[in-house]
Amino acid sequence: MGQLDLLWEYQNLDLALDKYDKMRKNSPLRSKLIELKNYLMQQQEYLVKLNEEAEKKNHILNRINHEYEDIVKAFKSGFDKVESGQVRSVKQLEEMQKVAMELKEKLSKKEEEIRNLLKDIQNLSNKLEDIRVRMVKAKKEYSDTKAEYDDEVANIQKEYQQIKQRRDQLKNELDPELIKRYNRLKKSRGTAIVTVEQNCCGGCNMSLAALVIERLKKGDDIIECENCGRILYWANKADSDAKSAG
Ligand SMILES: [Zn+2]
Repeated sequence: MGQLDLLWEYQNLDLALDKYDKMRKNSPLRSKLIELKNYLMQQQEYLVKLNEEAEKKNHILNRINHEYEDIVKAFKSGFDKVESGQVRSVKQLEEMQKVAMELKEKLSKKEEEIRNLLKDIQNLSNKLEDIRVRMVKAKKEYSDTKAEYDDEVANIQKEYQQIKQRRDQLKNELDPELIKRYNRLKKSRGTAIVTVEQNCCGGCNMSLAALVIERLKKGDDIIECENCGRILYWANKADSDAKSAG
């Protein structure tokens, strides 16, 4: 086999490998996995955010609890003064009563703040629990899907490896410079070597000069299409050889 025959075969195998890559990338299972992963990441972020919020609320609750205790202490010390008879004048007593009223009002305000905070914290904790449940479910779904996807990939991979092995064998038989040229063309044009179809380039459809056709028929020269630069391959060579031989 000439270099071009080998290159043609090489490209066929290469394109088959591309198809497998595409199959793998376009797998619905893969899309589902990506979706689930994004969902889990999103929920995780949400979880962290809510946790931080709950922590802040707990800090505030702590602070208010201390403030509440201080007020209770102040209230008690006033009460003790009255009890122990340290308050002598009516005016002083009235003054103390006024302070006590204020403290009582403060206390009920703090109590309300505490109630609200506890409610908020409870809400946050419910939300966190919901997220955790959702995440456990999504994680299970992820691992199930992953197992299914791995099976699918393993099947594809088996066929893929067989083709790849054949392609790599061919590579050893090809001129490295030709492979380089092939890779450049394939990258820019999608295909590097094209057959001649009714005297036209099979890549860009430009009609080829009679001289080019003659040269192609003759031999293993590497001739590229003047228009698109792809390497031209005279696929009927075997046929024409057979005909001329017969
Ligand atoms: Zn062309």
